[in-house]
Parts: sequence; C-alpha cells; structure tokens
Amino acid sequence: SWEGYCGPSSFQLRVAIVGGGIVGVAAALGLLRRNMTVRLYEQAGNFREIGAGVAFTTNAQTCMALLSPDILAAMKAVSTKNESPYYTYVDGYRRGPDQTDDDDDLSETLLYRLHAGTTGFDACHRAHFLDEMVKHIPDDVVQFRKRFDTYVYDEEREEYTLRFEDGSTATADVVVGCDGIKSRVRQILLGKDNPASYPSFAHQVAFRALVSMDRAVAALGRDKAHNQCMHTGPEAHLLNFPVAQHTMMNIVAFAPHPGEWPHRERMVAPATADEVRDAFAGWRPAVRAIAGLLVGEDDARTLDKWAIFDTYEHPAPTYAKGGACIAGDAAHATSPHHGAGAGMGIEDALALATALGLAAETIQGKGDEGPRKAKKKSVAVTAALAAYDAVRRERTQWLVRSSREVSRTYEWANPDCGTDPEKCLRDIEKRAHKIWHFDIDGMLADAKVEFAHFLSA
Ligand code: FAD
Repeated sequence: SWEGYCGPSSFQLRVAIVGGGIVGVAAALGLLRRNMTVRLYEQAGNFREIGAGVAFTTNAQTCMALLSPDILAAMKAVSTKNESPYYTYVDGYRRGPDQTDDDDDLSETLLYRLHAGTTGFDACHRAHFLDEMVKHIPDDVVQFRKRFDTYVYDEEREEYTLRFEDGSTATADVVVGCDGIKSRVRQILLGKDNPASYPSFAHQVAFRALVSMDRAVAALGRDKAHNQCMHTGPEAHLLNFPVAQHTMMNIVAFAPHPGEWPHRERMVAPATADEVRDAFAGWRPAVRAIAGLLVGEDDARTLDKWAIFDTYEHPAPTYAKGGACIAGDAAHATSPHHGAGAGMGIEDALALATALGLAAETIQGKGDEGPRKAKKKSVAVTAALAAYDAVRRERTQWLVRSSREVSRTYEWANPDCGTDPEKCLRDIEKRAHKIWHFDIDGMLADAKVEFAHFLSA
C-alpha cells in the first residue's frame, strides 16, 4: 500500500535509468543529488564515448550546475573555449577575387561572423567529459552488461519490472530511457508498430576526426585551427573547432547520401579516403587540406562514415507514459547541425530531476506551498513525467527541425537566404539565440505549474 511512502524522510523514489551516455549519467547525478535511489543499466561493459568533440552552450552549462555542480566541474575540467568571441563562416567553395587555385593558397572568403561572446560553446573530447562525470557516480549505482529488453508495470505494487536480455530483472518506481537514438525504451513506450519508435535517415553522412593541433596549424594556419570555423558550400559543409585545451582540433564534414542507408543494424560504416576527397573535390584548397587531415597522411587513418539519423519524420507524440519516460537522443535524436543535441539532453535531465523531486515531496506530503496531502506514488510520478513532457517536447522537437533547416543554410540551399551572407547570418543567429538564450528558470517554473495541473487532473 502507498501509506508506507508517507513516512518522514525514509521514502526515496527508485529510478531506473537505461543507458549510460552523457544524458543518462548526467540524469543519474542530478537524481542522486535529489536524494533518490538510482540504478543505471548500461549494455556495454564500461562507460565509453567516442573519440570526437562535443560542445556545450552556456545555458546547457547552467543546467549542468543546477543538476549537480559535479557535472559542470567535470566539463570545465576538460573543456576548451574558442579563442575568439566570434564563430566564423567562410566560403569554402568559390574563388574570391584575390585568390588563386594554388594548393598553398589556403585563404577563404569570410562570409559572416556570429557573435557568441560568453554565451557560445565550450568544447570537449567526449570520452574525457564522460570519464570526469562518472568519477562522481557511486559504484553500486551502475550495472554494466545489462541490455534492457522490456518493462512491465504492476498496478498493485505500483512498480515497474525491467527485463534484460541476460534474463535478469530489476524493479523501480520510475523508468527513464536514456538509451540513445535506437532507444528500446522508446519502442516499448510508444509501441513497436509506431513509426515514431524508430529514427529515420536524413540522407547525409558525417566524416569525423580529431587531429593534433600541430598538424591542424600546419595545414590551416593558427587562427583557423584554434577557432570554430564553418566552411560553407553547395550540398556539403565542414566544421572545425579546437578541443582538449587546444591540443587537438575536431573535424566533422557532412556530405549528401542519396537513397537509403544500406547497413540495417549499423549507423557507422567504413569509408574510403576517396569518398571524402570526392565530396570536397571542387572546393577551395583549404577545405581540401582539412579533408586531407581527415584521411591522414598516405590515407593512413581508419575512416568511418556516420549515417545521420533523426526523429524529424516521425517525432514522438509524447515523452512519457505513466511512470516511464525517454530523454536525450532516445526522445529527440537530431542531426548535429546546431551542436546542441547533448545540451538539450542535459536540459531534459534538469526538467526531469526537478519534476521527480516535486513528486517525491508530494508523495511524502511535503512541499514548499505548505504541507500537501500525501499522494499515491503512481499519481505523483505520472504527474511529474507528464509535466516533464509538457515542458520539453516542443523545444526539443523544434531543435530537430531547425537542425535540418540550418544545414540547408550552410549549404546555400535555404530558399529564404540563398548565398546572401546577411540573410544567412540572420537565419543562423535567430536559431542560435533560441538555443543559447533559454529561460531555464521559466522552464522550471512551468514544470511546477504543469505538475500541479496534472496532479489535480
Ligand atoms: P547516447 O550517447 O547514444 O547514449 C546511449 C547509451 O545507452 C549508450 O551508452 C548505449 O550503450 C546505451 N544503450 C542503448 N541501448 C541500450 C539498452 N537496450 N540497454 C542498456 N543500455 C543501452 N551535441 C551537443 O550538444 N554538442 C555537440 O557539439 C554535438 N556534436 C555532435 C556531432 C555529431 C557528428 C553527432 C552525430 C552528434 C552530436 N551531438 C552534439 C549530439 C550528441 O552526440 C547526442 O545528442 C548525445 O550524445 C546523446 O546522448 P545520450 O546519452 O542521449 O545518448
């Protein structure tokens, strides 16, 4: 019976998080800080991230601090700021009036600069950031080699039983799916026959590499290598930014991939140096030099191409049902053109932790609006997750749409901007400001209002 949960401080919500990526780990730290019992189930044998860059805007960093100061400290310990307060967008394709096609003419025409000031990105090596964060997770919170299969809800006991592929089970009051783009939790939550349970191919591939800063400076010059630079052009684009305290440069190059992605189960496939070179064959020497860094000397680098999948075609109609929900890429996988997918996942984690904190108080008959009547556990948890869905879905699904749209701006294919630098800058700025200048206090206040609304509904 639920009476047992009304006791003073003995009650702790039991939250099962599926997936130990950036969002699952951040959510775990935020929930632990709010005195919940957390179990994190990760299919891999350890925490692992890929060797690539990830950047976080100031608002994502504020959310980190509010979730748990340990998260922000972890990011700050390994992150790198742009040297300039501006992000630079150059014409990587056309020859300017003073330029030649000589391979050593690495100049590109400056199109526009986006002022980021102190609101812009801090970039880090993904694995370094995850390594720093997990130092703060107690050992008994994590279980590795647990590949989640399904959950069932027991109404009588008001709890979920999670089943894993190794046949083991676990129980919890709340299930949070942070299991990434191919989320199994999303399939269970929305139904296996629902197209929104699966991501779809954005007909684009990315080639990525981290290269040593020495090599980057030798190829591009100091200024470009140490600062974020977007090389725009027709049908493709290429971005570089510094990471790892300016000891490395992150490169990500996007090229079209017409037709379907042929590898059913995998989103990453081997690529050849020629594929990269062909994608940027007619481009300025500077872009070809960066493509050269991607493939490595004598084509020595092992190259992969990453299929860009997202939830653009079939957005999830809800992120929560009962006491189960999805967050991060599991809820709203996006193409990476705003560099904000993980940041949005951090915002999700903050909204979720806040809403579940309200639920925990309500179950115990506490709360800052004077003593509330203790509520049944499932009612409070359902209201909290409905509030989470209400404050997160619109913004995150906008990101998925806007990311596809802004990619067209980078590739001179946005009909509203074409190649007009002024119009392109306005378009990019408008979208960036929506991401950067997010009213976090407003979101948390809304979560509280929505929670009260769903609780009384
Ligand atoms: P994931 O990192 O995918 O983690 C999911 C975890 O769940 C994994 O550890 C997986 O092993 C585990 N898992 C999966 N299924 C199961 C299961 N059944 N049982 C148990 N465990 C399971 N975002 C930014 O904010 N800034 C950037 O600069 C940026 N750049 C990007 C560049 C590129 C090229 C790409 C592709 C993305 C970029 N993103 C960026 C987006 C960002 O990478 C993602 O939004 C973020 O990594 C998602 O984190 P996550 O924790 O939700 O999912």
